[in-house]
Amino acid sequence: MITVLPDHIANQIAAGEVIQRPASAVKELLENAVDASATAIQLIINDSGKSLVQVVDNGKGMDEQDARLCFGRHATSKISRIEDLFCIQTMGFRGEALASIAAVAQVELRTRTASSDTGFYIEVENSQLVKATPVAAPQGTSVAMKNLFFNVPARRNFLKSNAAEMRHIIDEFTRVALAFPSISFSLHANNQQLFQLESGTLKQRVVQLMGAAYESRLVTVKEETDYLNIRGFVGKPDTARKTRGEQYFFVNNRFIRSAYLHHAIMSAFQGMLAPDHFPLYVLFIDLDPQQIDINVHPTKQEIKFEDEKIVYAFVQAAVKHALAQFSITPTLDFDLDASIQQLSSVQQPFTEDKRSAAADSSIFRSFTKKNQAHLIQPSGFTAYSPDWTASEPASVTATPLLPSEPDEHPLRVTSLLSGYILYPNRDGLWIIDQQAAHERILYEQLQQSSVEQPVPAQRTLFPITLTLPVADAALLQELLPALNLLGFLLEPVGPGSFTIQATPSDSPSGQEKTIIESLLEEYKHFNSDAGYTIREKLIRSLVKQRRIKSGTLLNEKEMRELVVQLLACQQPGQTPDGRPTYVALSSDYLATLFIR
Ligand code: ADP
Ligand code: MG
Repeated sequence: MITVLPDHIANQIAAGEVIQRPASAVKELLENAVDASATAIQLIINDSGKSLVQVVDNGKGMDEQDARLCFGRHATSKISRIEDLFCIQTMGFRGEALASIAAVAQVELRTRTASSDTGFYIEVENSQLVKATPVAAPQGTSVAMKNLFFNVPARRNFLKSNAAEMRHIIDEFTRVALAFPSISFSLHANNQQLFQLESGTLKQRVVQLMGAAYESRLVTVKEETDYLNIRGFVGKPDTARKTRGEQYFFVNNRFIRSAYLHHAIMSAFQGMLAPDHFPLYVLFIDLDPQQIDINVHPTKQEIKFEDEKIVYAFVQAAVKHALAQFSITPTLDFDLDASIQQLSSVQQPFTEDKRSAAADSSIFRSFTKKNQAHLIQPSGFTAYSPDWTASEPASVTATPLLPSEPDEHPLRVTSLLSGYILYPNRDGLWIIDQQAAHERILYEQLQQSSVEQPVPAQRTLFPITLTLPVADAALLQELLPALNLLGFLLEPVGPGSFTIQATPSDSPSGQEKTIIESLLEEYKHFNSDAGYTIREKLIRSLVKQRRIKSGTLLNEKEMRELVVQLLACQQPGQTPDGRPTYVALSSDYLATLFIR
């Protein structure tokens, strides 16, 4: 039997496409405020948006008629003809956002236009008008979305932890704030001010959002052609981080994701970045709207270019050009485009001043390390780098034999090059996967840490300041207590900043920041695993981070220690995620193989 769905159910279903989580409402409401020509926009959040998302703007406002209409499906003042779709200048245009929000939450709208003395107030719940009345109001609009999904419990249960939802909100806020630096924005969450962004230049906005550390570390990108323009900033290579999250593309001022263009940028940075590091970029590409196919689905952030290859080449060249002007490139042997080789900055003599600046940079360091022939050293200076000695095959050093083993005969091991350890014993032959075994060992060691017995930590020689993008900082904040037991002592010192006071005593010093950044990155992979506690997720992340990789060559002593420790584990046979750590070939099985 076919039945026609009641309106409010149909609306709820349609709303699911547009409003998936509090952050979707944040995006829509901020964009409406921008479209209304606001110069100041406030975002107010309670309970990570689950109980309140409110946007207050000083834009043009709505009169009573528009206020009554705006919650209707396909209510929009922004397009009236189908042709308009192809030259949209505003952010929203499908007239679905407010209707969708009203279908899945309680909404309070307060608005006034410049030409009216009194404002208008409307309350809508479950797509039903609850209240409509004139009211005193400042010019502009305030939309408050309360109790998202109060009428769709299944969706409400689907929402992630407060930290995760807050991160999505900050992501959306950041994107809109980057796209409109001339508008001032503020963000308050649970009555705490997280951001107060004054109107300014794009550079100021980037620094406000990403941290003062970028003040002198941004490289301007700016190229104009008849086909498209690009403008914005990339971070100098030495600011690249192991965690992603500071990479932004905007096409015609709209945030997009593009793995393809990301690749173009990474290739422009080729040879300048430490492995697995990502540079900051905030780039705006402007081109004729006819040349792109915005997927008109409002929540999709993908885009199709008419000619993708041109855009790729252009982005890559623009970033290379910008980096060449930053004048580190001449010492390195990049295959620069001929046009770039002509640039005066590339041809300028390499002065002593620049040399010392370059020597400090990570590009130079990684270059000289990789290619010793190019290492320039003041005379009388002997290089000693713990890194280099560590990369020598460890087996060169003489190793004292272990004292006699608990087993009657000494524990003998041999390695296979591919990261397996052969361990013959009374029962036959074990083939141990060194990486998997180490995962099990680390996992059980970390599990044993407790309040009474935290992982031993060592103080850093000097306090180290770690500054993170706000979303990462929010995540780290949440992890601090659990991290403490695991040997990491960090203290928040202002927005987005922490001092690292101690790290586990077996972790290499000098790499504290990288260790924590890459730990966060590992953690994000587990973050949506609802089944695990924070501590469990952290332990699993630490295991991933610290395990001996298959490619590492172990000496005999190290292999023996690994085997002894594995045998001491409670569940020696499996990694934490259930892969085997060893395969046992019994003597009997070997006999059958050889048809004895
Ligand atoms: P769209 O933005 O796609 O037009 P929305 O559902 O987001 O659809 O908004 C519907 C209409 O309500 C808009 O076209 C606009 O006329 C009006 N509106 C929404 N928010 C605001 C605001 N903050 N200030 C002024 N008008 C607004
Ligand atoms: Mg809109």
